[in-house]
Amino acid sequence: MRVGTGTDVGRVRVTNEDAYWAQTPWFAVADGMGGHAAGEVASRLAVDSLARTLAAFDGGDVDGWLLRAVQQANRDVWARAQADAALAGMGTTLTVAHIEPGRMVIAHVGDSRCYRFRDGALQLLTADHSIVGELLRTGTLSEAEAEVHPHRNVLTRALGTAPHVEVDVLQEALRPGDRVLLCTDGLTSVLGDDEVALRLALSEPPESVTKRLVAAANEGGGPDNTTVVLVDIPRA
Ligand code: MG
Repeated sequence: MRVGTGTDVGRVRVTNEDAYWAQTPWFAVADGMGGHAAGEVASRLAVDSLARTLAAFDGGDVDGWLLRAVQQANRDVWARAQADAALAGMGTTLTVAHIEPGRMVIAHVGDSRCYRFRDGALQLLTADHSIVGELLRTGTLSEAEAEVHPHRNVLTRALGTAPHVEVDVLQEALRPGDRVLLCTDGLTSVLGDDEVALRLALSEPPESVTKRLVAAANEGGGPDNTTVVLVDIPRA
């Protein structure tokens, strides 16, 4: 599998509070939040915790390993936030996938997304844990209303803000030629799905597509940190 990664502070923020981890077959993105440097600490702690837990992976039940790894990351961020007053209230999104040709398992908390691009079509696989995401799913809000909603960045679930967290775990089939994209909201708050799909449709390696995606978010104003991880499933 060929992999591209990219992260950028953007054009408005002073610090990059996103983090990512790409160590085949594990891939993760995290978008931290909190005052001062706390968001940076939270997202870094979360992906480091994942890496530590999953280093012991024994090839067994992937779903169970991912669930436990995300819950451990939650405990690690929470414990650190309790121990240091300067970090109180910090939290992060976390979207992590185990990807192998044929199958992927995703675990996530928050609004960092996972998409599958297949045969020219982009499909969002994760459900944003945000106020706007929930209103969209219940049909209370239209896409156009969601884009300008004052609470569009408010999460309903985050990692590290409570001792326990509910984690969504989903399994998806993969086919030769599929591309899997993990990204933080810095990308999707600027680019619509059609604009992301245009770039994924390019027959270029993931390393250059991730550069284009990050550049496009910045050309669109770069209001937030942008992080992308793109994994290509080899063609048969
Ligand atoms: Mg963000």
